[in-house]
Amino acid sequence: MKVLRNTSIRHVVSNYLADFWGLFFPNTCCGCGNHLVKGECILCLTCLHDMPFTDFHLQDDNVIVKRFWGRVEVHAATALLHFQKGNKVQQLVHQLKYNQRDDVGVYLGEIMGKHLKHAEAFSDVALVVPVPLHWRKKLKRGYNQSACFAQGIAAEMGIETSSNLLQRATNTQTQTKKTREERWLNVKDVFALNSPKKYQGQHILLVDDVVTTGATLEACAQKLLQIPGVRVSIATIAVAE
Ligand SMILES: [Zn+2]
Repeated sequence: MKVLRNTSIRHVVSNYLADFWGLFFPNTCCGCGNHLVKGECILCLTCLHDMPFTDFHLQDDNVIVKRFWGRVEVHAATALLHFQKGNKVQQLVHQLKYNQRDDVGVYLGEIMGKHLKHAEAFSDVALVVPVPLHWRKKLKRGYNQSACFAQGIAAEMGIETSSNLLQRATNTQTQTKKTREERWLNVKDVFALNSPKKYQGQHILLVDDVVTTGATLEACAQKLLQIPGVRVSIATIAVAE
């Protein structure tokens, strides 16, 4: 009885401390800005429930796979969420890229990992490789948002991630206002491999934040496919349609 009372007192005290702590460090939902309650992380349950998940990992010929048809041989491809201007996914990606919220990337990676663990096409993925950022951009942001996503996926799937295998040799200009062809010319020669031998024959999951034309992912996948026996699949946080 005494043990039970001590446990429940400890429970009340820790709840009280958590609430008190929350007054000074408000933990708010990245989707709606409401306060998160205990057990919620990054998104409140309502926002999480309303997220536009694609479930592409369960569809062999989804729009991401089709986007790479005739361009590069991709084993399987998926995106976690639909990206639209003004939707909560845009807010999440904004928090991740411009608001120092690297934890958003890891969180979304963990959700992606949970999905991929149960998808046959991704079941033998052995390595997660993020699209590399140029060092100057990484220095400015403090982290590579795609590497955070990779970290969450790898942790959830119990596999490795490598930020060294694929490297960006030159700093490209921003892709935002370029046509599909201009984007391709801009990125096709900028990636290089570092110590690729130990990854021969593996199924590699290449990951990025938002896929638009797919030019950067195409260039990275082509590079990875130079490693003998490698298969490449793709997973992104969101797809802009
Ligand atoms: Zn919310």
